[in-house]
Amino acid sequence: MPNRWGIPKHVEEAVRARDTQCVYCGISFLQTEFSNKTRPTWEHIVNDIRINGVDNIALCCGSCNASKGNKILAEWLKSNYCLKKGITLKTVASVVKAHIRESH
Ligand SMILES: [Zn+2]
Repeated sequence: MPNRWGIPKHVEEAVRARDTQCVYCGISFLQTEFSNKTRPTWEHIVNDIRINGVDNIALCCGSCNASKGNKILAEWLKSNYCLKKGITLKTVASVVKAHIRESH
């Protein structure tokens, strides 16, 4: 999992310690073998690479990352992917919920 976005080391370490599961679908990162879908990937909750703090950086699985892409969080939560996986504002990690609250 190379740190391609210049995320500060202390942020990276804090996020790795906090996000032991996908912040969106909740799949565990504590297993030892990953597929492209289940591997942890770096996620900017707000799609702005300049926001590099622990509040915007999170780990989500490859599957959620691929689905979310550049979509705005609130819009993505209405997508078929989230509907199918049962991902809602109530099920996401608190770091994600904080962003939803801020945007309203
Ligand atoms: Zn996920």
